[in-house]
Amino acid sequence: MQLNVTNSPFNEEQSQQLNQLLPTLNSHQRIWLTGYLSAQGSVVAEGAAPASPQAVNVQAGTVPSTPAAPKEVTILFGSQTGNGTHLAKKLSKRLEEQQVKTEMLSMADFKPANLKKLSHLLIIVSTHGEGDPPDNALAFHEFLYSKRAPKLENLSFSVLALGDTSYEFFCQTGKDFDTRLAELGASRLAERVDCDVDFDESAGEWMQSVTQALSAAPAADSATTNAASPVSTDSESEYSRSNPFAAEVLENLNLNGRGSVRETRHLELSLEGSGLTYEPGDSLGVYPENHPRLVDEIIEAMEWNAEEVVNTGKNGTASLREALHRYYEITILTKPLVEQIAKLTGNEALATLTAPESADALRAYIHEHDLLDLIVDYQLKGVSAAEFTSVLRKIPARLYSIASSSKATPDEVHLTVRTVRYACGGRDRYGVCSVQMAERLEPGDTLPVFIQHNPNFKLPENPDTPIIMIGPGTGVAPFRSFLAEREESGAEGKTWMFYGDQHFATDFLYQTEWQRWIKDGVLTKMDVAFSRDTEEKVYVQHRMLEKSQELYEWINNGAAIYVCGDEKHMAHDVHTTLETIIAQGGGLSPEQASEYLLQLQQEKRYQRDVY
Ligand code: NDP
Repeated sequence: MQLNVTNSPFNEEQSQQLNQLLPTLNSHQRIWLTGYLSAQGSVVAEGAAPASPQAVNVQAGTVPSTPAAPKEVTILFGSQTGNGTHLAKKLSKRLEEQQVKTEMLSMADFKPANLKKLSHLLIIVSTHGEGDPPDNALAFHEFLYSKRAPKLENLSFSVLALGDTSYEFFCQTGKDFDTRLAELGASRLAERVDCDVDFDESAGEWMQSVTQALSAAPAADSATTNAASPVSTDSESEYSRSNPFAAEVLENLNLNGRGSVRETRHLELSLEGSGLTYEPGDSLGVYPENHPRLVDEIIEAMEWNAEEVVNTGKNGTASLREALHRYYEITILTKPLVEQIAKLTGNEALATLTAPESADALRAYIHEHDLLDLIVDYQLKGVSAAEFTSVLRKIPARLYSIASSSKATPDEVHLTVRTVRYACGGRDRYGVCSVQMAERLEPGDTLPVFIQHNPNFKLPENPDTPIIMIGPGTGVAPFRSFLAEREESGAEGKTWMFYGDQHFATDFLYQTEWQRWIKDGVLTKMDVAFSRDTEEKVYVQHRMLEKSQELYEWINNGAAIYVCGDEKHMAHDVHTTLETIIAQGGGLSPEQASEYLLQLQQEKRYQRDVY
């Protein structure tokens, strides 16, 4: 209805202005305006002078948010390791506390046909590998980019993207969702936030912006109504990612035999007194310490004083040596880090390397070098330690798939960690955490840890469901946990494991345990592929193909499939092999087999923990 002087209290000029403005507003803007005007009304009704916009800001605590709040906000998460799921739960709780009704679900459980019905959508999604969506976001991501995606002019949305700046396609999936929803006509409720591995603060800020936008409260309200607080990921115990537990090392063994080129540590840690609990499929987060030799080499190359006191942020002040040893990442180079160092140092050669036209050269340099190389190659000395450390990333936790069952070994958590050592550019390089575990961690020492729950890698609820486990190398870890759990709970479902490594004699991790489980009937079948015992390489997927028909029967009879280990090659090849097995067994075309596997993924009958 057009406004005019007879059907409204406005004069002609005001009516014209309003008639021009109102049709241009989207639903979120209309809702916001309604709340804003009603808030002004409440201030006036309290007897004050007519409120200015600033006055409404100041009075924020008294502004009723309910009239402005949308009916329902949908929170969709796409998560591989569980971070996205935890953040979605946190956000839902936070919004409900602000009287905003929420519906929270995994992207895999969301029916895309319902997208058109939504008015407010919040997306939390991580990115994996070469910019890929997590498994439970695959189908929704594909739908949005398909021709079937509807126009979404009435939708307001915002995206929280989780990622790691050390990967080239940082937060790509979040960026995809953000771009595509806007292309489909939806409007942004709040700008997308891209989070690095240390996501607590930025995720907290994003939550604050969306909470604010949804309660239609002007920006200055936040300090009084809902201050941004970092989000933590574990609420059951006082210990979490931001407050790790000092777990005592009970055992630290090398699982590989003499003569192996590989070293795999089996670590047993005590969780006694922590209140931390976990289930098979969960991971343990570990905060490592940098190698003291590398710390000294960096200090020497920069000509710093190791005893100089620096401010490390939330950990307070520390000597430079201590700060570099415990609090900062001093190995991996990332694009943002090199750019910041270029700016900080004003180094011309580094400015050239970080210029847009040198993108390929920068990518290659980052791939093959570490921080010490950068310092030496570009002669970076001359910058103060305080300035330099201010651009370093906080040392991120490493996540390891848990290899134990708390039913079988209460108050303990076990890990299976391969030691990473290699030489490059005439210098020995070390995996930060794995080499600390191999060289500088003894029974009695402690490690700062937390539990990273992973709802996307869980045993079937029904203990009778058969399971197929594919886990070469350290990918075997969660299956040790699965079988220990099934043994303790007396589950009757059949179990089949595919395992592989380089040599039978030296690299058969936990060999005697599998043999005992086979003898006791906990493990029904086991197929192994030792890649370097024969002239031709044999991998787990070759063994799977040899048992193609039987595997198909297991899958067809409802077995759940689990894959853990190397993401780049193994998980990809195993996925293709599963498609082949399903196509052959079910007489399906390659497209139908691929669809079938995607369906299994959606039903959580095909789960992956890959890295
Ligand atoms: P690997 O995955 O390296 O090796 C296990 C077995 O898998 C070997 O027999 C190997 O054979 C074989 N293999 C190699 N390529 C394939 C393929 N395409 N399909 C199937 N099998 C294959 O075991 P790890 O446990 O050492 O490594 C697992 C993953 O973890 C890797 O991605 C590795 O990069 C990563 N990793 C990360 C660490 C970290 O600190 N971040 C530490 C250790 C590992 P062959 O070697 O003969 O080719």
